[in-house]
Amino acid sequence: MERRRPDRPDGNEPKRERLSRLKISILGSGSGGNAAVLMNSRTAILVDAGFSGRSICDRLDRIGLKPQDISAILITHEHIDHIRGAGGFSRKYDIPVYATEMTIQNGRHNLGNLPRPEVIRAGCSVAVSGFDVHPFSIPHDAADPVGFTISDGTVKVGFCTDLGSVTHLVRQRLKGCHALVLEMNHDREMLLAGPYPWALKQRIRSRTGHLSNDDAVEFLKELWQPDLRHIILAHLSRTNNLPELAAVSAETALREIQALDFTRLTVADQSRPTEICSVEGPNCPGERR
Ligand SMILES: [Zn+2]
Ligand SMILES: [Zn+2]
Repeated sequence: MERRRPDRPDGNEPKRERLSRLKISILGSGSGGNAAVLMNSRTAILVDAGFSGRSICDRLDRIGLKPQDISAILITHEHIDHIRGAGGFSRKYDIPVYATEMTIQNGRHNLGNLPRPEVIRAGCSVAVSGFDVHPFSIPHDAADPVGFTISDGTVKVGFCTDLGSVTHLVRQRLKGCHALVLEMNHDREMLLAGPYPWALKQRIRSRTGHLSNDDAVEFLKELWQPDLRHIILAHLSRTNNLPELAAVSAETALREIQALDFTRLTVADQSRPTEICSVEGPNCPGERR
């Protein structure tokens, strides 16, 4: 599902020499598995690898990539829907896996022996395949979960799913993004009226659970600025949300702040990759180490 609004708020097309060729596709997103690919003209990196190795290969193939195009895997946290294929894929294609020490330790049962583990720390930027990757702590019930901002020096992309609540740090880190992948997990009423056991409902609603549609749109309204031209809604619950509901909620919020005409909105799907989205941005100071 996609809604495209091509015009810039200032009416000017970005200058060609300042365009970045950074592209993004969400290979799939939801509690059944999460993986995204970020690429430039030289390489591609995965953010999470929550599908089987075979499924990751199939999904890459659907967007015209080969496993050999992937030069690194970034992991947000050790929940199975984010690491299911990470170990096998990295062993088969000899790809380094970047994750926090606690994520590697707590995910070792599913990750297995990583041939090329790279330990990252929240708050410390790291150069990965020519990208400046900045991991930042997020509130979620995992050992040491992180979101990422990834910059090529011109364009900044934010990845933030499995977000129980929006903290001051999350707000700070996601400022100035040109593209944002944000969790829109559940509709509160659907969750409360739905079939999940009460304890699970409470876990999802907690400050270390998952972000509701209402919380996500409030955050989007706060965060939006004219350079944020791509918003991808991710990690939708199949049971407690509907793609149409998430899209309409986000559209309504962006319309309220006169941002809808300038923003391309995509809802990530569990079963298939999103269209490849080209992200452009005139200025991006990048993250500081
Ligand atoms: Zn999780
Ligand atoms: Zn998850």
